Amino acid sequence: MTTKPLIAITGASSGIGAATAEAFSKAGHPVLMMARRTAPMEDMALPNSVIAEVDVRDRKQIADAVAKGEAEHGPVDMMFVNAGIARLADIGRQPPEEWDEMIDINTKGVMNTVHAVMNGMMERRTGTLVMMSSIAGRKVYPDHTVYCGTKYFVHAVSESLRDYLSDYNVRVIVLSPGVIETDVLSGVLDEQTLASYKENKQKMGGGIGADIVADLILNAYQLPQRALVQEICLTPTRQKF
Ligand code: NDP
Repeated sequence: MTTKPLIAITGASSGIGAATAEAFSKAGHPVLMMARRTAPMEDMALPNSVIAEVDVRDRKQIADAVAKGEAEHGPVDMMFVNAGIARLADIGRQPPEEWDEMIDINTKGVMNTVHAVMNGMMERRTGTLVMMSSIAGRKVYPDHTVYCGTKYFVHAVSESLRDYLSDYNVRVIVLSPGVIETDVLSGVLDEQTLASYKENKQKMGGGIGADIVADLILNAYQLPQRALVQEICLTPTRQKF
């Protein structure tokens, strides 16, 4: 067992989750990496990593993964509730199946993930939840209707959890990024929406790197437990809205 506590991350197979696993691993933490695709996580070959095939829609799979990680490295001290998809589209022509998928992964999946670690953190009277929202959880954008709905959900739940868990010395950080360079656009199936998103992105000179987000999470986590960064809102400088 390593001396630094275990950090758990959903959506660690790609993008911001993968970059965060790397940053915490570099800082000497064992990491529990969870996602549906295990190969990319295996390929990262991080020391002291526990890799688990998890679909966040499956509450038992997450609980089992947490138990496996904790058996090897002790209690999860931070859970990055990160897994999510962005099926952006004009709401008038979007197939409802896309809403179902986003709602199940981005809202119920978030609650399943919180549930897997919250009681342990309360008992230990320490811990940190990093909740992945978005700038789309603070304001609405065209073609983001249900995605925004899921991220507003994350904001609301996080505010409530922060209030509730403060009595237990557990921190809740909300993360609200703007445009970050990841594979997130592979989830946009509507070609018109994808084209206009890319056009906007180009106007602002592209997104910023996931490693920048990861470093900010690490910095916030490394503050003393009694100090809480309540929200991180990070965008490219040239992102206007
Ligand atoms: P990526 O597409 O690169 O990563 C998404 C991650 O979520 C993958 O590891 C994927 O793994 C995982 N995931 C998706 N569905 C599930 C599921 N059902 N169960 C478990 N894991 C799942 O995109 P990002 O890194 O950008 O996205 C991470 C989070 O950041 C998302 O919540 C997204 O909404 C949010 N975000 C992203 C922004 C951006 O501009 N990139 C801006 C603001 C917020 P796998 O497919 O292997 O399961």
